[in-house]
Amino acid sequence: MARYRGSVCKICRREGEKLYLKGERCYTDKCPIERRPYGPGQHGKDRRGKQSEYGLQLREKQKVKSIYGVLERQNRRYFKIATKMPGIAGENYLQLLERRLDNVVYRLGFATSRSEARQLVLHGHIQVNGRKVNIPSYLVDVEETISVKEASRKLPKFKDIFEVNADLKVPEWLSVDMEKAEGKVLALPTRDDIDYPVEENLIVEFYSR
Ligand code: SF4
Repeated sequence: MARYRGSVCKICRREGEKLYLKGERCYTDKCPIERRPYGPGQHGKDRRGKQSEYGLQLREKQKVKSIYGVLERQNRRYFKIATKMPGIAGENYLQLLERRLDNVVYRLGFATSRSEARQLVLHGHIQVNGRKVNIPSYLVDVEETISVKEASRKLPKFKDIFEVNADLKVPEWLSVDMEKAEGKVLALPTRDDIDYPVEENLIVEFYSR
């Protein structure tokens, strides 16, 4: 299935909550969900009825896919890997998504949204342990260093991003030195590091059907 290219704000409105997909705009009163907190389209206001168990599971799965910008096949793959890891499948699944390089670039403040982070990785601006990695799904590991390529740091794009994210607080499993545009993975993310509301048990139930 192709990547969704429509308005990402429609996704938030469909899910009925802010998913912060658009970067800076999400934190302003220009966020459409602040003004129109109902589903998109002509019948958007009528859609919020009681959902079936399947509907709830599906929506939760779609929400997480939208947040991380992953396709169904990739998502299913993460879930399959998560079930084979020691521990709780739902938590393992969220940890795998958090460890994606595009997410880490976003978390470190080297991008204002995950979709922007994905573009920056694809365009070769990001290094892991000093070597270019242009695969957004690359899974970072403990002790790895993630940095913006030296030549890229001077680009106006990055200057703007660093300005916007100057006061950003990075999660505890990461550390960052904004001066050097360099971050480090201190530990693997845990369930407590997931900072948006998600009921991963619904996703486990969806894929276990
Ligand atoms: Fe969602 Fe951000 Fe658009 Fe608001 S501005 S609806 S949070 S993507």
